[in-house]
Amino acid sequence: MLGFLKDRQLYVELRPQCPKCKKEFMLDLKKFLPGKAHSCYACGTVAHFDASLAERVQKQVHDLEVTIREVYESFSSRKGE
Ligand SMILES: [Zn+2]
Repeated sequence: MLGFLKDRQLYVELRPQCPKCKKEFMLDLKKFLPGKAHSCYACGTVAHFDASLAERVQKQVHDLEVTIREVYESFSSRKGE
């Protein structure tokens, strides 16, 4: 699931699987942060997030938000032309 919240924050929801019991869980991409981990609600396995991957993801999410804002602005600045 991919969308934008009202304040133009990017929202990306992923459905990865627990490495142990393979239960799917919901992961908000914005919470995929370096140093964080997910603990499985079903079996309690803690899956640590890949720090360098998480850093890359956060940078790209941020860049995309900035770009999307520019798209909005490109329309609002054309008003009345
Ligand atoms: Zn599990």
